[in-house]
Amino acid sequence: MNPRKSRVRVVRKGRLVDEPIACRNCARPLCRDACPKDAILINDGNVIVDQELCIGCGACVKACPFGAMTLHPDTGLAINCDLCGECVEACPVGELRIVSPDEIAGDIRWHSLDRLAVNLEDRIMGKEF
Ligand code: SF4
Ligand code: SF4
Repeated sequence: MNPRKSRVRVVRKGRLVDEPIACRNCARPLCRDACPKDAILINDGNVIVDQELCIGCGACVKACPFGAMTLHPDTGLAINCDLCGECVEACPVGELRIVSPDEIAGDIRWHSLDRLAVNLEDRIMGKEF
């Protein structure tokens, strides 16, 4: 298994935090705007690279603000996460999942409530004073 061929990259921040980086399937993708060959398409909300049209120039790699586009080490052509789900199945510790924007919003709401609960608890317990 070669991590450089992965469409999802993990960035290590310090010793404790590993952050997965994957394509956000932007509604107005900067990678697509930068492509001189019109090789980047949106198919049913997924941003995909047409491997037949790609020439491996790397313009999309530079344009993506998230570092989510890379060039495949063997083919030299652009690749991004295409939501195939293979990495989800391969992850030995089950840390990956595919979620919809609605599910992400739901998670954010829960985290907001958690923070609110901690703040309220701090106030009630007088930790602020
Ligand atoms: S590769 Fe980057 S710019 Fe292109 S759709 Fe994915 S996240 Fe957006
Ligand atoms: S590497 Fe391929 S997909 Fe990316 S900008 Fe160049 S031609 Fe387009």
